[in-house]
Amino acid sequence: MEDSQKLALFHESGIFHFNDSNTVFIDPVRVLNRSYNRHTVSPSTYYPRFFQTLTPKTSISTTVSSSPTKRKRKKRKRSPKELNEREQIAFQRHQELRPLLVKAHECLLKSSGLLDDLRTLRSGGDSCCLKEKCEGDEQCLVELAAQSPELVLTLNLRVLETDKDLGDSPNVQYCEQRSILPAFNNLVVNDMEDDAVVEILNNHYIVPRESCFYMSDLGQIRNLIPAHTDCGFNLIMVDPPWENASARQKSRYPTLPNRYFLSLPIKQLTHTEGALVALWVTNREKLRSFVEKELFAAWGVSYAATFHWLKVKANGSLISDLDLFHHRPYESLILGYSPGKVKHSDNRSKFKPLKDDHVIMSIPGDYSRKPPIADLLQEYIPGIKPPQCVELFAREIMAGWVAWGNEPLHFQSSRYFIKK
Ligand code: SAM
Repeated sequence: MEDSQKLALFHESGIFHFNDSNTVFIDPVRVLNRSYNRHTVSPSTYYPRFFQTLTPKTSISTTVSSSPTKRKRKKRKRSPKELNEREQIAFQRHQELRPLLVKAHECLLKSSGLLDDLRTLRSGGDSCCLKEKCEGDEQCLVELAAQSPELVLTLNLRVLETDKDLGDSPNVQYCEQRSILPAFNNLVVNDMEDDAVVEILNNHYIVPRESCFYMSDLGQIRNLIPAHTDCGFNLIMVDPPWENASARQKSRYPTLPNRYFLSLPIKQLTHTEGALVALWVTNREKLRSFVEKELFAAWGVSYAATFHWLKVKANGSLISDLDLFHHRPYESLILGYSPGKVKHSDNRSKFKPLKDDHVIMSIPGDYSRKPPIADLLQEYIPGIKPPQCVELFAREIMAGWVAWGNEPLHFQSSRYFIKK
């Protein structure tokens, strides 16, 4: 396909496929916009770092160097001899992955049309997002749940009214339907084919069409388990609050020790026909080995493949040196299959094999915000179409999905949106 055709598709879908490889570039703003009818995601709030620090076009000579803007960290490359046993395994893993990432990055650097396009992300035209009409400081949802567990929210749905009295052709009108519901430990459903607006203490949250959210602590996650397994999920996306110094120091969100994730009810959430489980992990070797040796086994999930998310800047360079030991410019999505049961027999043989060679590139958004990659997984999701999808530890909601976590409305705040 010609680059111009691929760019046209990219503008519509937010996904650019490079030829002859399993490499894509994603613009999360465009992908997310497909979930909304009356709102668009504000590029300046999705890409806060990019909007603060965009530098003039710099020459991008090599794949492994980042742009020559200020470097906060001292980049010391450690020699393999200095590494302890675990670090050596991580080093080896990186060395094996490196050629794939370099090749993927070269695809981006050679794609001048796409690079030019990235520089226009700014012209998403949102000097004012919805929050300008704003209601005061938004309180953290996790704190609110602790302080006021009985708090209610207002769910505002736009409902179609057809008035046939005004002439021959029906005059389409809408009215607002408001419901008062518990904000926490409650499944809130927007079953309309339209955006809904949720109000909590004078703050507004935009909820995409045909989606649900359940805002609770881990202790209540079992309330998500469906009464019948044929109402279970075919895609289970998990982004746990892994313990790490960065989340703790920056106080972005509470974290949990690994043992808490062993008891996530993945089996019980799985649809009768099975589920693809997609788990985000950081590069800490301790974590990788926990997932491989303990977590997937505890969940009854069989490992399928690992996808790689390579983070770039708006000028196409990597966000950090590829070989920087503790700050790699990539993260991993580990994929596996949860079997489900059809008439008491195992589904395993029906699952489509996956390869380790997928690279997803994007400009990162806010701290720990992952790109919306569900489109890339579609062909591997077992069972019914469209699939039923759930995100565990979600901070945002996608159309058609169930989002669970202690702050699934976080990135749904009106501050992240522009009204169409
Ligand atoms: N996938 C998200 C994104 O792209 O923005 C990031 C998820 S973040 C890594 C982990 C989330 O788990 C945070 O929102 C955090 O508040 C939440 N979390 C932490 N402890 C929790 C608990 N005990 N119960 C429910 N959610 C929790």
